[in-house]
Order: sequence, then structure tokens, then C-alpha cells
Amino acid sequence: MQMLTSQIPLIAQAQNSDFSRTAIIDSQKSYTYQDLLDASAKIATTLLDGKENLAEARVAYLVPSSFDYPAVQWGIWRAGGIAVPLCTMHPASEIAYSIEDSDASIVIAHPEYEEILRPVAGKLKRKFLLTTELQNGETGDLPDVSPDCAAMIVYTSGTTSKPKGVVTTHENIAAQISSLIEAWGWSQDDRILLFLPLHHLHGIINVLCCSLWAGATCEMMPRFDAAEAWKKLQGEDLTLFMAVPTIYARMVKFWKKASPQEQQAMTESCKKLRLMVSGSAALPVSTLEEWQKISGHTLLERYGMTEIGMALSNPLNGERRPGHVGSPLPGVEVRLVDDKNHTLPDGEQGEIQVRGKNVFREYWQRPKVTQDSFVDGWFKTGDVAICENNVYRILGRNSVDIIKTGGFKVSALEIEEVLRTHESIEQCAVVGAPDPEWGERVSAAVVLREGKSLDLDALRDWSKEHLAVYKVPSRLLILNELPSNAIGKVVKPEVTKLFAD
Ligand code: AMP
Repeated sequence: MQMLTSQIPLIAQAQNSDFSRTAIIDSQKSYTYQDLLDASAKIATTLLDGKENLAEARVAYLVPSSFDYPAVQWGIWRAGGIAVPLCTMHPASEIAYSIEDSDASIVIAHPEYEEILRPVAGKLKRKFLLTTELQNGETGDLPDVSPDCAAMIVYTSGTTSKPKGVVTTHENIAAQISSLIEAWGWSQDDRILLFLPLHHLHGIINVLCCSLWAGATCEMMPRFDAAEAWKKLQGEDLTLFMAVPTIYARMVKFWKKASPQEQQAMTESCKKLRLMVSGSAALPVSTLEEWQKISGHTLLERYGMTEIGMALSNPLNGERRPGHVGSPLPGVEVRLVDDKNHTLPDGEQGEIQVRGKNVFREYWQRPKVTQDSFVDGWFKTGDVAICENNVYRILGRNSVDIIKTGGFKVSALEIEEVLRTHESIEQCAVVGAPDPEWGERVSAAVVLREGKSLDLDALRDWSKEHLAVYKVPSRLLILNELPSNAIGKVVKPEVTKLFAD
């Protein structure tokens, strides 16, 4: 059947370009853009089940990183539904939360997750479908889906409060993608490795959707594994690599344990890449420097958030400043404001606010929270930064990283950056533990390097030489690992709780 060009920008992009090209390679085989268009049309028809349009009905799906993922996502979109990606690493209770909160009427599972999801869907009385059942039928007429229809609900990582559903339209998604296509010079000759979780924007937009928009090839790994990622770097002609800081740290660790010959081969394999990007959490300068020595690449650090896509980025060409996240991306307006929403001059710290087509439509069924999150059309990110000559440096989230101690406001990220230069410290998380005298006390949770020890007095003596006295940690906790979420980000409220315990 002849399909009309979709009004969904990402799908129209594929329909209007060479669809014999390879879109996806997964652990099974390679798939062309034609395969993706055909599979998603069949899935859309099955989901419609005789209806004309799903009309923004929510469809939740738990599918591993493989061809089935974009096939299902595009299928939901082409049927007029809202895609609600679930996290493969979450326990059943959190999965149930996303299904219930989004009020998803259909739940799709890959057979790998049937055992977890079928009982959840049964209990919540939702229609349950397996990916294997979705692609068997015929392709029927598909609705016209307007670009201003809601496309996706992604749940915030919930590091500071209960996860909220972030609703983006097809137009928002197109704006988020096209900004990165332009800034990072994506083309159909690109080939990228995808191992990031696919319930989070980093993997969904920056890697998968950008790759498909560009007509490039995305090689999907079921999950991240340092040995496997290094093997792919050596075996495949990759041009792009995008990851979170903890993944780069794990790749550095793996490289260090390898033999000199293996190290050389790994280092050599990075030469063919044109760009390596880091984001979703602050990139420690030490990781950037180690990676530079190993790979020859200066990681491009960028800043973004589920609600806005990407907002700030170091340049593709030009100086990438360690510890900084660069300047506003194409089509994205960024400002820094004080408590009264007055725009701040260079060098003064304030909240990042963002405006543009990239900004989400609303928090799902939370009109009051949505309203309170905007001022004069600007989205209040809750992140604090400082800007000089249009280059931004993130100081952290206002609620958890800006510590109010004895009348001072200090950035936990700045203190962490300094503590990581201590010879005994491998990882650290600084929080403000509530204190009746100081308001909050600078408190450091650390993971030590192998064979090293540290106590509070020694840490304080050392810190006094590197930090203003009010920034010196007055509490220390030594941990085997820092509490982190599915994307590898430290969950600060849990660290604060450890100090209370
Ligand atoms: P998420 O919505 O899960 O992607 O988390 C977004 C949050 O991660 C932002 O609000 C920031 O607090 C943090 N973040 C993202 N990128 C960076 C970065 N490059 N440096 C520091 N924090 C970042």
C-alpha cells in the first residue's frame, strides 16, 4: 500500500530519504529504514485495532535496546498514541507507577520482560501485547498525526521528588533533534553505538532519534559493558560515541587493567571517531583528562534535561573548556536569573531558565506544577550556573547541590571537583546535611581508591589548603559505592539520608 508522507517530522524525514540504507544493527541483524517504516506501520495498524486514531492514548512499552524499540516507538506515534517508555532496570513497583500515572491503556512487552509485565498489566487491567504479536498483521490506513500532538511521556529520574511525566509533542522532539543535528554536524555517514537506557532522553533523543533523523546507522547493544564497548570501538567503523561520565570512568578503568598491547589497540580504535560526547551529569575534569590521554579526544560536554532536551553545548569546532558546558544550542534561548527573575550580568550565579520549541508541553496531569515551573514563558530548570563570555558552568541543582551553610551558598559540584584531586578519593558526592547550628553542613560521601584510607581530620587538613574554610567538609562517610540511578547519576537525597542515619 502507498503510504502518505507522515506529518510526524522524524518519520517524514525517513520517508523522504533513501530507505535502503541501514538504520539499525542489533545483536540479531541489520535493518534498513524501509524495514523500520514497514514494521512500524504494521505495529500502528495492530494498535489501532480498527480505530481511526489513538488520539493521544498512552501506550507504555518495555523493550530492550534492539530494532523492536524504534519499531514500537514509531508504531505508537504513527497510530496517534503517546509513547511511554518504561525502564528495563526498574522493579515492578516503579514500572506500575509509570503505567498508572500515565494512565496507559495498552502495555507492550518484549518476550524477555513478559514475566515482569504481564502480571502488572493484569493487575492494573490494561491491554497487554507482546512485540512478537504486533508485527504479524497487515498494514492498514494510518491517521494524520499533527506535529502538535503529544508524542512521548518520559518520567523524570526522580532524584529529588516522585517521578513526573514530561510530555513532549512531535514538534518539541523535532526541535530537540534538529538543534543537535546542526550543532554536532550529524550526517548519514555517521555510525553510533547505543548502550544507554532507553527510558531517558540521552539514549532516546541524542542517540537514537538523532541517528534516525540523519539517516545514519545506530548500532544497539542490549546494555553497557566496558569490554563489549571497547570491542565494538575496535571492530566497527564508528564515528560517534555518547555516554554519561560514569561510563567513561568505567572505560578508563578497563583500559588501565589491560596489557600494553591491548591498551595501544584500544587507543588506536578511538582515532576513527569524529566526536565523543558526555552529559547528563557533571563530567569530572579528572575523567576528561584521563580520557584525553587514552583516546586523544577532548570530550564535548553538554547540558540538558528531560523537560528541555539539550540546552547548552561546548562547540563541535573550537575550544571545549573542561568543567564548562558551553553556550546555547541552535534554537534554544537561555538566561540566568536571580530570585526575583531579573536577568544577571556576566559572572553572577543564578538559575538557568530556558525558552524555545525544544521545551516540553506540560507535566502529565499536574497543571499546578506545570504552571509553577514557568515564568513569562521561560522554563525554570532549578539548576544554578554562572556564565562568562557566553560560556556556562553548572554549579548544580538548587535543591540539592547548592548548600546553604552558615550564611554562605556553596556549590557541591565545585567541592566534589576539588575532592576528586585527593590521592585517596576515587568518587565522591557532597551534600548539605541538615544541621541546627549551620543550617546545612558540608558533608562528603567518598569511595576510596584501592588500598587507601582516609579520616575526617586528614581530609579537613588537606581541604583547607584547597578550599575556603566554609567549603571544607565537616562530615565524612566512606562507602563502597555511591547510591545511583539507572542512568548512573548519584541520587543525592539518598546520600543526605545516609548522613541522617
Ligand atoms: P535528566 O532530566 O535526568 O536528564 O537530568 C537533568 C539534570 O542533570 C539537569 O537538571 C542537571 O542538574 C543535570 N545535568 C545534565 N547535564 C549536566 C552537566 N553537563 N553538568 C552538570 N549537570 C548536568
